[in-house]
Amino acid sequence: MICLGCLVERKIKQNYCVKCTKELFGGVSPKPLEFDKKEFYQARAEFAKRMNISGVQDKISLKFENKRLIPIASQGEYILKPAPFGEVGMSNPADLPANEHLSMVISKKIFKIRTADCGLIKFSDGELAYITKRFDYTDTQEKFDQEDFASILGVTPAKDGADYKYSSKTYIDCIKALKAYTPASMINILDFVKRIILNYLISNGDAHLKNFSLYSQPNKNDLMLTPNYDVLNTRYHINNESSDMAMELFDTHTKEFDAIGFLSHQDFKKFATFAGLSQNQFISIITQASNIKDVEKIVNKSYLSDEGKKFYIKSYRDRLYKRLLYNPKIK
Ligand SMILES: [Zn+2]
Repeated sequence: MICLGCLVERKIKQNYCVKCTKELFGGVSPKPLEFDKKEFYQARAEFAKRMNISGVQDKISLKFENKRLIPIASQGEYILKPAPFGEVGMSNPADLPANEHLSMVISKKIFKIRTADCGLIKFSDGELAYITKRFDYTDTQEKFDQEDFASILGVTPAKDGADYKYSSKTYIDCIKALKAYTPASMINILDFVKRIILNYLISNGDAHLKNFSLYSQPNKNDLMLTPNYDVLNTRYHINNESSDMAMELFDTHTKEFDAIGFLSHQDFKKFATFAGLSQNQFISIITQASNIKDVEKIVNKSYLSDEGKKFYIKSYRDRLYKRLLYNPKIK
């Protein structure tokens, strides 16, 4: 079967291959969840007042004990996100967990971005939910110091309004913060530029300031980007043609953008140059991103519906060939 962690076809009886069992569950293969989606939402309502994980999509903390994943109000080692329950204002809600999982696998395997460990897991009735291992605790349950970019850049709802996460800040402002605050800034900047190009290619219109964070180990001064998280093709669920990306790349537009009205090769090249990457580093990211054969292979092994797979591949191809690699000659 296809491993629910790495999406590779393997001869396995369990849901996860050996490597994924090790990465995601410390080498102990978990039993299927002992509750279904309905019970998930009941537990979530019960925990709601005590929960400390934020975000819009419904999620719940899990602890892992005696091969069992058990819902817990706070400080769980895992986060479980199922497909929404009932009528929701989006298209294809049943594909949400598979979409996020696939996007995380692409982040890790195609772009070689440090990405949160994650997989799919079966509810008691077999329905798949998305599960991810928290990265903000050490093995001894010490909490990492973590701050998202809304907080780092001093953007708040009081000052910047309800849409503060999308704010007037640009991705270059995030790069400047990486330069200023992280010791290994070039590693973090290269990683960040990759994330922006990934989000563009997979049509993630929700890569806002709260979806990027810095963290450091307890009592250490080693601030760096957290593993990548919360990435998915949002356009498949909410078709908003007006916004290509959650935020602008930089303050001004290139002459190419002014002429054609959308982001193309020169915009990303200029973004990478502003960020301080060399020409070779930029070309190397573009080469990774252009590995359409492997992208398609992963999409086709994913647990998306057939319609979802078609949409994902088409939107990736369009963004790659008609946008990222498109280099119009504008005088
Ligand atoms: Zn695997």
